[in-house]
Amino acid sequence: MPKSNSVRKDDEQKLLVVKWKDGSTSEIEWKKLRDSCPCAECTEIHGPADPLRLKLAPNYNLASVEYIGNYAVQPRWGDGHSAGLYSWNYLRELAGLMPAPQ
Ligand SMILES: [Zn+2]
Repeated sequence: MPKSNSVRKDDEQKLLVVKWKDGSTSEIEWKKLRDSCPCAECTEIHGPADPLRLKLAPNYNLASVEYIGNYAVQPRWGDGHSAGLYSWNYLRELAGLMPAPQ
């Protein structure tokens, strides 16, 4: 079994493929990933609609993913947005899994 979690971009199906330490795999759609961006800016966008504020539609094209230490990944999107850090447990949540035992 691999020692750490890893991610792979599937450009054809627009999925982030996460390979977990336990050998299992999850697939998360880019759109879902972007819509769940945990950064302050996006959390505000996902929040209650403010009709006075014009919002840019997020770009759902995943340009690259970087590892942040061994606790998170940082996707970079087609519009240059990369403020969101996704912890492995957050990715598990997005994939509909229980948090990994520590
Ligand atoms: Zn964001």
